[in-house]
Amino acid sequence: MSRLWNFSAGPAALPQAVLERAQRELLDWQGCGASVMELSHRGKLFMSLAQQAETDLRELLAIPENYAVLFLQGGATQHFAQIPMNLATEGASADYIVTGHWGEKAASEAAPYVKVNVAASSKAEHYLRLPPRDTWQLDPRAAYVHYVSNETIHGVEFHDVPNVGEVPLVADMSSDILSRPIDVTRFGLIYAGAQKNIGPSGLVVMIVRRDLLERPARPMARIFRYADHAANDSMLNTPNTWGWYLAGLTFQWLKEQGGLKAVGERNAAKAGLLYDAIDGSGGYYRSPVEPSARSLMNIPFTLHDSALDADFLKESESAGLLALKGHKALGGMRASIYNAVPLEAVQALVSFMGDFAKRHG
Ligand SMILES: *Cc1c(COP(=O)(O)O)cnc(C)c1O
Repeated sequence: MSRLWNFSAGPAALPQAVLERAQRELLDWQGCGASVMELSHRGKLFMSLAQQAETDLRELLAIPENYAVLFLQGGATQHFAQIPMNLATEGASADYIVTGHWGEKAASEAAPYVKVNVAASSKAEHYLRLPPRDTWQLDPRAAYVHYVSNETIHGVEFHDVPNVGEVPLVADMSSDILSRPIDVTRFGLIYAGAQKNIGPSGLVVMIVRRDLLERPARPMARIFRYADHAANDSMLNTPNTWGWYLAGLTFQWLKEQGGLKAVGERNAAKAGLLYDAIDGSGGYYRSPVEPSARSLMNIPFTLHDSALDADFLKESESAGLLALKGHKALGGMRASIYNAVPLEAVQALVSFMGDFAKRHG
């Protein structure tokens, strides 16, 4: 068996220690004689796992009591639609800050349920920078302001939480949640698909201020109502128990890593190493993203001659570096270096990039 250094954008690398523990426990979890996947979600054992995962997440992010934590399904994409269903009354409008592919998707999926006001967009700049905060056309009557804290495809990330006044701020943090400490109290709602920085696909973690769950909602089935999920401890129906278990193991692993401050410092060092290699390559490699908006999680880069792309991909894979092909929106390469990707992986990539440039001149 050989595990390669995995730079996949998502589903992405999981911490090896988490996978090894899941492997050890796969057939007989906690001596109960069955796999965690084979247990009732309503049983005592699984309930205590679920509770512990929430407790650990609350500790990692210092989530206050007036926020509910939900473990949902449907991917971030389903919640693009479900968020306006829950937070906006019929006829209301919401502000969208569009800084890349996922922000665009969020706005278009919301459109059947809320009047979407694109309050700022960097589309004209090909999403390679962030629209300056003083240009945002925010509406103080908006039901909420939605933004994507890290655009996974374009590799642009907010390094501060934007100030939007009293209107609740809603963040799609799918690809940078738990990558550093954040002040949860600045947000009305945070959500993230698990498959980038938390666990396997099929799970969505949501952190929502409880007063927002009491907003008068349009008629809808209970399964769509966040308030019902909260009132039932995310067990309105059968949750993704396997995903919840793995997320819980990841939260424990993050605590063992020293918590989010230490993890954030490591992530900054990893990204710094790769950006320095790109910027110091004399133009052999280029980052298309404006430096102040560069993501610490997803790093797109191009080669000076795209005719070399195929060789780069073939040779990098032979060198044990997986999934570096860039998204078609930008071409070239993309290295996703989430929490589970260690510094050694980035060192291996940087060393390969140097060798490749020498060999291919
Ligand atoms: C991957 C991703 C999504 C889509 O997630 P699904 O689970 O496929 O719905 C949405 N937003 C961001 C920022 C992402 O990285």
